[in-house]
Amino acid sequence: MQDATLPRPALLGIDLGTTNSLIAVWQDGQARLIPNALGDVLTPSVVSLDEDDTILVGKAARARLTTHPDRTAAAFKRFMGSDKQVELGSRPFSPEELSALVLGSLKQDAEAFLGHPVSEAVISVPAYFSDEQRKRTMFAAELAGLSVTRLINEPTAAAMAYGLHEQKLERTLIFDLGGGTFDVTVLEYALPLIEVHASTGDNFLGGEDFTAALLEACLNDWQLTPSMVDAQGMASLGDALEQLKCKLGESKQQLSWRHAGQTFEWSLDEAAAVRIWEPLLGRLRAPIEQALRDARLNPRDLDSLVLVGGATRMPAVQQLVATLFGRLPYRHLDPDTIVALGAATQAACKARDGAVEELILTDVCPYTLGIETLRGKGVEGAFSPIIERNTVIPTSRVERYYTTHPHQEKIRIAVYQGERPWVRDNIFIDAFDVALMPTDHIQQLDVRFSYDINGLLEVDVTLLETRARHSHSIDRSPTGLDEQARKNSHDRLATLKVHPRDALPNRTLLARLERAWMQSLGDEREQIAEWLYSFTRVLGDQQSAEIASHRTQLNDALDELRL
Ligand code: AMP
Repeated sequence: MQDATLPRPALLGIDLGTTNSLIAVWQDGQARLIPNALGDVLTPSVVSLDEDDTILVGKAARARLTTHPDRTAAAFKRFMGSDKQVELGSRPFSPEELSALVLGSLKQDAEAFLGHPVSEAVISVPAYFSDEQRKRTMFAAELAGLSVTRLINEPTAAAMAYGLHEQKLERTLIFDLGGGTFDVTVLEYALPLIEVHASTGDNFLGGEDFTAALLEACLNDWQLTPSMVDAQGMASLGDALEQLKCKLGESKQQLSWRHAGQTFEWSLDEAAAVRIWEPLLGRLRAPIEQALRDARLNPRDLDSLVLVGGATRMPAVQQLVATLFGRLPYRHLDPDTIVALGAATQAACKARDGAVEELILTDVCPYTLGIETLRGKGVEGAFSPIIERNTVIPTSRVERYYTTHPHQEKIRIAVYQGERPWVRDNIFIDAFDVALMPTDHIQQLDVRFSYDINGLLEVDVTLLETRARHSHSIDRSPTGLDEQARKNSHDRLATLKVHPRDALPNRTLLARLERAWMQSLGDEREQIAEWLYSFTRVLGDQQSAEIASHRTQLNDALDELRL
């Protein structure tokens, strides 16, 4: 029971994105975005190790992606759930450690905004994230000192934010294309109920791939290969192409890039970009078709389409959606911020905040979960589904299986996720042995899968003859973390120094000036050098009013130069 004298914990929602992350709080009956130390609501999900071994997160780190690519990491959410390590300088970091640093920075922003410590949040994940990726996200939160009150699927969070604002939606398809992932969710509003019918997606398709395709195309046109360009050159070209991609909707774009004493020119218009992106645009179709099929709907049955995620700003993507559905999408809310607002709304619903209209959400498990079985002599490695994709969660399903021969002493339960008939083509999740009482006959066993609202799985095996029950939480897959690995992560992060929040605006401007110096030449470069040195001098004088006014002037000047 809650002590009425204690303040209630803040109702926070976090969108931990591939490209940008946001934090929102439910306050006075609405979800509000919390600004970071620079006053921005979008914090780039980028981490950099400064020369004095302090950690920088956000815009300053993103500027260092160009100037110090070997000490900076971005888009690490794409590797969440794998054992890939990213080196910053010579220090290795796992994707969840890097995510923890981003979460820690958002937590600090919330604490500065609210004026008290915060300890819990609803965190959004791509709907198509696997069990392991969800667990690693929870672990990242733990490393940042946050407990996760719920993991919410990103499109579902967007649906919650829309649910509060719009009363006229019924059958809706949410098309969510972020920096690194693509999710399609079909849901139905019968307010206060929001019922998800189907969720599908591609964990390896996002706006970053569209930038990577441009990078490949222009290197090709210049008859260069990636191995001919150093890390700094690749980072500056990637940065320039990212900016070019975002402006393509406005007009034809020109690119001028200096490398190894040569200037390379490239120009691109929307039609040429669409040709380069043809394979990627094609990959957006299959998940849409599958989601509609699973929800047993035709495109014309939909009442509305909602676009979520920064990459849906691309005209090529909007055009594809309009062609596929024969209508214009609905985009009243900002696709960049809607997921965080929805996550905070979910935090309020979960805490039964009186000020939020009661919204009841039902979600689905986006992929099929099952076990490996033997289907007769020589037919090994068959996948037997227990929970089929797009089953409403929480759910608990049971299937009956048989031992293969008398006197069997144990049975191996190997759990997989996927949509293919052979386990070798699906994702292995976990395996464990269940001891049997050997008998002279074939035995029966029931395997029950329970999948909870956060998307985490538990397996129960019951031997029918003895009623012996064996419970197994899937908390460690082959790529999963054991206790020692978790402790190492805690220890590693505990020794890191994080750049003080109040010094971030100055640090960010210095990083931005260094990047601008690198990107410019001639008189412009000389001008930027003058700004960099004058700002360094002003910082040395430690007069805060003067520092602030100088900083504003220089940020404005850099904005004007689009640097
Ligand atoms: P998100 O993960 O939702 O923040 O989406 C980030 C992705 O959206 C990145 O790949 C960005 O390049 C892309 N993006 C953001 N704004 C635009 C824009 N105006 N045009 C094209 N892509 C954009």
